[in-house]
Amino acid sequence: MGVVSGKGGVGKSMTSALLACAMARRGYHCGILDADITGPSIPKLFGIHGRAMADDKGCWPIQSRMGIDVMSINLLVENEEDPVVWRGPVIAGAVKQFWTDVVWKDVDFLFVDMPPGTGDVPLTVFQSLPVDGIVVVASPQELVSMIVAKAVNMAEMMKVPMLGIVENMSYIVCPDCGKHINVFGNSHVDEVAAKHGLPVLAKCPIDPQLAALSDAGMIETYGGEYLEGAADACEKLLKK
Ligand code: ADP
Repeated sequence: MGVVSGKGGVGKSMTSALLACAMARRGYHCGILDADITGPSIPKLFGIHGRAMADDKGCWPIQSRMGIDVMSINLLVENEEDPVVWRGPVIAGAVKQFWTDVVWKDVDFLFVDMPPGTGDVPLTVFQSLPVDGIVVVASPQELVSMIVAKAVNMAEMMKVPMLGIVENMSYIVCPDCGKHINVFGNSHVDEVAAKHGLPVLAKCPIDPQLAALSDAGMIETYGGEYLEGAADACEKLLKK
């Protein structure tokens, strides 16, 4: 399952992580392949800082507390603060190895946190992995219509089904009165989704608790069940 976005910082890693948690809670063995090589954030969300080990079977992912298998460039580099300054084809090669040389033992679902954007790097990465479905993450302040159109075109080029759109940072909930405040103005995601015949799988609020848990490496303990619709879409794919 590929998780894509138009640009960085919209919550693509967050969505990949929460979706894997939702599926793990449903009893599936999940993995996350962190293909965002230049901005890897998956290990941090789960509080994983170890070094991945390799043996004659391949390189072993590191398991989160909930049992989600994680592989990321940050589990291979000596110092997780070292930048990765590789060019597109090298990045795509590394991601390909994350698929071919990593022991993804008995995973029911593998979520791929793609490099941001719909340009050369994500496209090459797509070509190096067998992807069964794509979820696009967008925030309301982005040019959602353009981003979704580009993602839809990319999915068509790759002949991979687009499962739907996750709108992140849709609103905040007033802590005093519970009112939803559309910080970035009214969302157009429903119209855009309808235009492409896609479902809106989730609308996630900006939640300070989610940000705090992510910073603390405790994303698995987050209680907001915003991604159940996206989890349903993934589950449907398995049953096909
Ligand atoms: P991307 O993978 O698209 O670059 P991330 O998932 O890493 O984006 O999110 C970027 C930052 O925004 C992170 O610091 C994350 O904690 C924060 N963030 C994302 N979504 C939310 C949300 N719904 N509520 C609060 N903080 C969020």
